[in-house]
Amino acid sequence: MKAQPKASHFVDGAWLEDESGAPIDVIHPATGEVIARVHEATEAVIERALASAERAQREWAALRPVERGRILRRAAQIIRDRNRALSELETLDTGKPIQETLVADATSGADALEYFGGLAPAVTGETVPLGGDFVYTIREPLGVCVGIGAWNYPTQIACWKAAPALAMGNAMVFKPSEVTPLSALQIAQIFVEAGLPAGLFNVVQGRGAVGSTLIRDPRVAKVSLTGSVETGRKVYSAAAEGIRHVTMELGGKSPLIVFDDASIEDAVGGALLGNFYSTGQVCSNGTRVFVHRAIKEKFLTRLRERTESIRIGDPLDDATQMGPLVSAQQLEKVLSYIEIARREGARLVTGGNRIQRPGFFIEPTIFADVTDGMTIAREEIFGPVMAVLDFKDEDEVIARANATQFGLAAGVFTRDLARAHRVVARLRAGTCWINAYNLTPVEAPFGGVGLSGVGRENSRAAIDHYSQIKSVYVGLGPVEAPY
Ligand code: NAD
Repeated sequence: MKAQPKASHFVDGAWLEDESGAPIDVIHPATGEVIARVHEATEAVIERALASAERAQREWAALRPVERGRILRRAAQIIRDRNRALSELETLDTGKPIQETLVADATSGADALEYFGGLAPAVTGETVPLGGDFVYTIREPLGVCVGIGAWNYPTQIACWKAAPALAMGNAMVFKPSEVTPLSALQIAQIFVEAGLPAGLFNVVQGRGAVGSTLIRDPRVAKVSLTGSVETGRKVYSAAAEGIRHVTMELGGKSPLIVFDDASIEDAVGGALLGNFYSTGQVCSNGTRVFVHRAIKEKFLTRLRERTESIRIGDPLDDATQMGPLVSAQQLEKVLSYIEIARREGARLVTGGNRIQRPGFFIEPTIFADVTDGMTIAREEIFGPVMAVLDFKDEDEVIARANATQFGLAAGVFTRDLARAHRVVARLRAGTCWINAYNLTPVEAPFGGVGLSGVGRENSRAAIDHYSQIKSVYVGLGPVEAPY
């Protein structure tokens, strides 16, 4: 098989196989062919992963931060050197076009390793003067962290979690999505080549039950999940049993607001990127596009023209701009939302059909005249289906944009920057863009409010989520006891 890894798991610095675990077939979404088979982690594999992580973490935490950082930056360099091969693997696993994976997956993982590798030595405590006595603080690692990934950005998710965790002196056991299990194994191998001691980044495969076993283990101090709200609820409550730290990167139904003074070309570009990149399988997508009535028809005309010129095809072809959905199941789900939208009376502007070729291809789809109550304006579809809604004024659109329990992201397109800042200040979302969409540099915090999650990834903010503060009171005496 084309993409068969050396073994299903990577534990304690080495590839590990245990064929007694249930098999998971890995399917290339552009053809439907099986490209690899891995096995779910058994109890024995999970035990080895957690035990080696616990053992390795103590010595790792005792290293100078600059030494930890050096290893992470070395791993980043190896990832960059192998970007082509890693991107091809990511494309085989996810179906995302190679022109995307070359610039948005392994490279984004390398950015995170460079950023947190560089930041590690700069994280210090503080002293709190008390007029003689004083307090100093130490930022300590949490211990063993579990990372659980979604299938849309497998390499990026593994690195965005591993980089701050390892930088701060933690170990990580990572469970990729069962739909895309391949690339995290390569990252684990690269870490070892970069000099990361065995046990600090283990990858174990499996479906939800493996994730669930991992996060209930008493050795685990933290869980970071990227996934749906439904899974988030289960993982958050399991973590609560052990009062564990959590980061939850969950779903969204984000608004993208286009005012009548916006550059139409830029706003259309933002809406296309925010709905069709990665075949629409991006958590922060601006899937409710609110367009001011005055420019609605002009906007829709350009949107349609540019959408119909998107090159769909073999994702391994450099010229392809859009690949298939990740799985047959996801294809069914997206098609069913399109059917619901039609039934509920949304106007189909373009697309709407499965593409008749092997694999899980679908046309990029736009619905106009969508109203707030329609299903496609309320539920996360996670596919290339854009809902265009119209609005008349600022207060109205802000209220409608905020009328959701999600709160991952939001975007505003306008040439009036005072309005842009005023509107963004009132939007309930963890990540906002002004005259841009879906850019998530490692330097900026990323995460959601409401049902979209808790905690932040990337930036200095992630340090808080992978460390805890010890406060040390130093008494200079004498001790004044009343008895
Ligand atoms: P999912 O919730 O089905 O699965 C996510 C992961 O959780 C998988 O690895 C799965 O095996 C695991 N899992 C499932 N049940 C579990 C349980 N009970 N205990 C522990 N682990 C369990 O999500 P998905 O379909 O893989 O990904 C799509 C979703 O992820 C979308 O909702 C999307 O918005 C979200 N997402 C969010 C972000 C973000 O950063 N906010 C990024 C990417 C994707």
